[in-house]
Amino acid sequence: MTAKERAAYLRERLFYYAKLYYEEDAPAISDYEYDLLMQELRRIEAENPELITPDSPTMHVGGAPVEGFEQFHHEVPLQSLNDVFSFEEVEAFDRRVREVIAEPAYVVELKIDGLSVALEYQDGFFLRGATRGNGEVGEDVTQNLRTVRSIPLTLENVPGRLVVRGEVYMDHHALEVLNQKREEEGQPLFANCRNAAAGSLRQLDSRVTASRALDIFCFNVQSSSDVNFVRHSESLDWLKAHGFKVSPTYRVFQNISDVCEEIRRLGEMRGKLSFDIDGAVVKVDSLSDRELLGATSKAPRWAVAYKYPPEEKATLLRDIVVSVGRMGTLTPNAVLEPVRVAGSLVSRASLHNEAYIREKDIRIGDTVIIRKAGDIIPEVVTVVPELRPENAAPYAMPAFCPVCGAPVSRIEGEAALRCTGAECPAQLLRNLEHFASRAAMDIEGLGEAVTEQLMKSGLVTSCADLYDLRLEDLLKLDRFAQKSAENLIRSIDESRHRDLSRLICAFGIRQVGERAARSLARAFGTLDRLMSATREELLAVEDIGGITADCILEWFSQEQSQDVIARLRAAGVNFESEESPVDLRFAGLTFVLTGSLEHFTRDKAAEEIEKRGGRVSGSVSKKTSVVVAGENAGSKLEKARNLGIRVMDESEFLKTLQEES
Ligand code: NAD
Repeated sequence: MTAKERAAYLRERLFYYAKLYYEEDAPAISDYEYDLLMQELRRIEAENPELITPDSPTMHVGGAPVEGFEQFHHEVPLQSLNDVFSFEEVEAFDRRVREVIAEPAYVVELKIDGLSVALEYQDGFFLRGATRGNGEVGEDVTQNLRTVRSIPLTLENVPGRLVVRGEVYMDHHALEVLNQKREEEGQPLFANCRNAAAGSLRQLDSRVTASRALDIFCFNVQSSSDVNFVRHSESLDWLKAHGFKVSPTYRVFQNISDVCEEIRRLGEMRGKLSFDIDGAVVKVDSLSDRELLGATSKAPRWAVAYKYPPEEKATLLRDIVVSVGRMGTLTPNAVLEPVRVAGSLVSRASLHNEAYIREKDIRIGDTVIIRKAGDIIPEVVTVVPELRPENAAPYAMPAFCPVCGAPVSRIEGEAALRCTGAECPAQLLRNLEHFASRAAMDIEGLGEAVTEQLMKSGLVTSCADLYDLRLEDLLKLDRFAQKSAENLIRSIDESRHRDLSRLICAFGIRQVGERAARSLARAFGTLDRLMSATREELLAVEDIGGITADCILEWFSQEQSQDVIARLRAAGVNFESEESPVDLRFAGLTFVLTGSLEHFTRDKAAEEIEKRGGRVSGSVSKKTSVVVAGENAGSKLEKARNLGIRVMDESEFLKTLQEES
């Protein structure tokens, strides 16, 4: 891969992850992994400045403000920070500072993992507040900020204008309480404290924010009309004296080795704090020195953020239990002596598959090192061999499904084992959960516990049964009172109107996730058209390759699937896409363009063909479907005629393009 291709690839990934992170509060990878991708892109761009694009993620801060909030133009931009990952890089930062400032003093603070806000005060009254957004324009969340108890609403003896920057966060205990409640209500859990804080502050209903136990640490005076500060540390003292909750530790150092020592000390404190940090921030203390050092469009030159690697902890592996997934795949999970890692109590970790256990030689009774992959899902990194008990035997996966008892078989060419039971309740449970999940039919209130209960009572043995449920059926079950039963019936009812893309995703066809489901819905417009699609037509759809196309064809060919579809149709579930279907009239056809065209450039003609699902090739062969021959066409036209390939002149080609699809 060339540097240009790699940069384009990194940009695309970073945009995608940033959108999930900033706009949906649902990260797909860990911050550490994200930072490393960003660092790589920054390096490529530094080595090849011609590859820098104005929209590169290295040039911008944050995400776009979401709809629903008023836009808020920041008086002073809320900049980001440059990241460093080693003490060598901290020392290099010091050298760059010393090129401008002879004897800098540095403040080292905790880097709180929450979301950045600006708070505006006028004559001692809290006026408005906003999220960072893209640094220039954020979301006005004044009403929500008013519900955060530690934000002072009035200040004594602070005339004029004051803008303070802080980090709104949620502590570990609050996240645990919140997630427990969400689990009971069948709602998706927050992956970590930062997402919970961001999701809670960006609520359109401030009563929801008020119920979420948010807190704040203030870390900067952005501007002040009536107070002048000489040093940053002094402004933090002042904030504290005026009722703001400021960064819990901030100390001033005169040399960089003490700064590194402090970073190390804070890193060791990390596991003991009641809130998440993702690093330590080193800032030049003198405000006039900061002026001299200046800033880039994205971050100041007078500060860096030292990012700690994901936290790792040792704990005892008590047992290995095997769960069965939606496709029948057996996944071994470690049952651990509970231990706190990166902000939450961990008692389970995925062991992925048999090969992973064998490779790391993980045994019951071992002491293992765990960390959270993506700061989200815990995983076993390694075993501590010295602490292995004498009698610990190598682990063997079960030969029979632990849920239904059917024999287990290996999927060809894969590491995974699969349950062969056609009616395995574990698979059905996961399928139903998937069907109801937020990305699919989004049925609120249908979490694991409720689904399990519906299955056990015999009321639901397929997703189609959900639409036959009646209020009386639910009221007979333990868990349901009038209100909760009514709510569930209403959510199921509402799901009938979901877009086709969600229904396709809900089917749980192998290889077809949210993205592919959206492409399919857009391409075919209705479920009936998708059901009758040929392999060629499927292959012409964006994101659909050979394996996925085969999985789709196989799924629709099964009697069980046809049965479910017929019942969903009878239940009035929507089978249509909101988006207008894409034109696929040339799916599976290969075109060759020859001669000079009057109405098109070659590129434009090729684009029109590809837009309709066709392919364009440079040479005529037996595989060519159509040759479009313009004026003065030569040998290619002759070859096409010899091979008996269909030839179109330009006017026929034009007419074909313009026909209704
Ligand atoms: P950043 O988080 O690296 O640093 C800047 C932020 O640090 C500031 O906005 C401020 O809110 C915060 N901060 C906390 N304590 C502070 C203190 N004492 N002093 C100064 N600032 C303090 O940069 P960013 O631009 O906010 O976001 C990028 C980060 O977001 C990445 O480093 C990455 O970790 C994360 N991210 C993750 C994903 C993902 O998919 N996991 C996607 C996008 C971004």
